[in-house]
Amino acid sequence: MTQPREPFATSDTDVVEGLDYWRTLPIKQQPSWPDAAAVEAASAEIATLPPLVFAGEVDTLRSRLASAARGEAFLLQGGDCAETFAGATADQIRDRVKTILQMAVVLTYGASMPVIKMGRMAGQFAKPRSSDDETRDGVTLPAYRGDIVNGYDFTPESRRADPARLVKGYHTSASTINLIRAFTQGGFADLRQVHSWNRGFAANPANAAYEHLAKEIDKAIRFMEAAGADFDELKRVEFYTSHEGLLMDYERPMTRIDSRTGDPYLLSSHFVWIGERTRDLDGAHVDFLSRVRNPIGVKLGPSTTPDDMMRLIDKLDPEREPGRLTFITRMGAKKIRDALPPLLEAITRADATPLWVSDPMHGNGLTTPTGYKTRRFDEIMDEVKGFFEAHRAAGTHPGGIHIELTGDDVTECLGGSEHIDEATLATRYESLCDPRLNHMQSLELAFLVAEELAAN
Ligand code: PEP
Ligand code: MN
Repeated sequence: MTQPREPFATSDTDVVEGLDYWRTLPIKQQPSWPDAAAVEAASAEIATLPPLVFAGEVDTLRSRLASAARGEAFLLQGGDCAETFAGATADQIRDRVKTILQMAVVLTYGASMPVIKMGRMAGQFAKPRSSDDETRDGVTLPAYRGDIVNGYDFTPESRRADPARLVKGYHTSASTINLIRAFTQGGFADLRQVHSWNRGFAANPANAAYEHLAKEIDKAIRFMEAAGADFDELKRVEFYTSHEGLLMDYERPMTRIDSRTGDPYLLSSHFVWIGERTRDLDGAHVDFLSRVRNPIGVKLGPSTTPDDMMRLIDKLDPEREPGRLTFITRMGAKKIRDALPPLLEAITRADATPLWVSDPMHGNGLTTPTGYKTRRFDEIMDEVKGFFEAHRAAGTHPGGIHIELTGDDVTECLGGSEHIDEATLATRYESLCDPRLNHMQSLELAFLVAEELAAN
């Protein structure tokens, strides 16, 4: 007798042993869908839709990340905490891409190395939450888990997990990645244009501190021009997508078998990471992502022990494959100088060379007396500094930064050259989840990190 099939399994995926073993394991942070049959139907539909990225691109990214792990490239990963369906507009996507491209030029100069550009974009729709519910004025409803699960409005209808959102998440990711590809291949990413935007930033008197570096970049570009560099080649850039690999009813049907090799690839994005809340060694997320060929990130909070780290390496990167594993540390400015060194010391004694990336956002949250979730620019930068210091001391490579940012002029994080203060937060606070650096703050951070890289 044949085994009953998973509704979205294909004969291809059936033959990959263990790919569905996660179903037998404890799993965290999944919605409670009211209608199981509707979820299965949505996943089955997603399984028939084309992949959003191609396995060959995923392999190229792995080799790029391998260079970053060797200290020969630097990763810039940035975007919203939670993308929204309403926010997938041409202007907002363009401005986020633009911000990342501008930051990348500054970092490339500071590092004198290629910068790998990666958006938390085209799929960052599912959010882990600290509580399953939210209570307002005595009314308790399910927590908002991101637009791919439920709505943000605080009503029972909106907060109900709706499987139709899985399919909408796919289509919104598809139109986002389509525009990203157009912008980054079609002339928008021209180095000279991106640099001219940066000149505009540095010409603002508030950013006088960065004018010197902007002028140096200007000179370098004029030198390249004079020396006959082929600027046509610098009109296009590689741009990768990433999101937290969280929602299994979406990620599993987006996993496809590569016709070249027979290996499973998660083709909802080039890179996925496992969050701080779902990185249990014996949990479903670590098991599932251990079986796909994509480069995988894992967030590491301040309580991570060297033993936890080594076990994650053994599980997710048993072959010690270059570029396979990225550790994204999110320790907090006050803890990183104590919490990171023991991990780096242990790694220098181990046979593994993961890529180390700093997420200076998630360990530095605070809530103002008026109830806004925010972060201080200076603490964010202080964590990046602590990250560089720890790597300098250990002789390991500080390989990248992971930033929550937007290209819009929002007021969600405190400080920066515009001196956003607590009273200003209310002016334009738009994030449905964590506070993001705005366009100016993001560029300012890039200039400061470039100085760190140049001193490295
Ligand atoms: C995030 O990246 O938005 C997030 C939830 O991070 P972490 O898993 O590090 O808390
Ligand atoms: Mn976040």
